[in-house]
Amino acid sequence: MRYIEPHAHMVSRVTDDYVSMVTAGCQAVCEPAFWAGFDRGSADGFHDYFRQLTEHEPRRAARFGLAHYSWLCINPKESEDVKLAEEVLALIPEFLSRPNVLGIGEIGLNKNSRNELRVLEMHIDLAARHDQLILVHTPHLEDKLKGTRLTLDALKNHPRIKPERVIIDHVEEHTVEMVLEAGFWAGMTLYPETKCSFSRAIDILECHGHERLWLNSACDWGVSQPLAVAYAAQEMRARGFTPAEIDQVVFGNPVAFLGQCGKFTPPASDR
Ligand SMILES: [Zn+2]
Repeated sequence: MRYIEPHAHMVSRVTDDYVSMVTAGCQAVCEPAFWAGFDRGSADGFHDYFRQLTEHEPRRAARFGLAHYSWLCINPKESEDVKLAEEVLALIPEFLSRPNVLGIGEIGLNKNSRNELRVLEMHIDLAARHDQLILVHTPHLEDKLKGTRLTLDALKNHPRIKPERVIIDHVEEHTVEMVLEAGFWAGMTLYPETKCSFSRAIDILECHGHERLWLNSACDWGVSQPLAVAYAAQEMRARGFTPAEIDQVVFGNPVAFLGQCGKFTPPASDR
């Protein structure tokens, strides 16, 4: 099989994970900027992180023949400090022309606070001004429904944002419909403990079809599984999905969305 890992935090993973992913059929990995597990103290810390995402990590992946792409932003968790966020946003334009940068992400909300919303709007405007794709993180648990609504409103309120160029990640049963109905793409995050299990994600596919949806592992420094997309494909097979349907969800859909950025090169290899 072949698949794309559209959301993984490889800076937190060991090199053996790259080997396992390539062995399982991964053809490209995409890495949104995120919270490192601790709050960074200055914009300089983000400058180094953006260099890691655009220089070091693509080289590490390339050793195993794996294409590596990244997304840039200051994550919602650190967006409470608006002054820091402004400094970090000012750094981003110099990185946007780098060959592996696909857009702005993962932006969004964490606790749905006023400052987070302000920084989200600043990111949306930055993406619009630079004609970038957007990858959105939605909050967890009790904050998810409200946070998803607030995020969709912020995106719809910007006159230059085209929904087909935005993916709303971490959707669940109660948020997927509003995302797809508004014309956005939707991502399902497969986590062993929190977020979406394999079987729930496949239930959602059965209920909502296979269009404008992708699966990702969002593997990071916490309890997570870098092969989650490959495992989910295996479970789809057991649940009666055809090889063509599985290929569309784990390969064709990510290629279609990411291909809207001219820097994303669709992998040429066979299944
Ligand atoms: Zn993430």
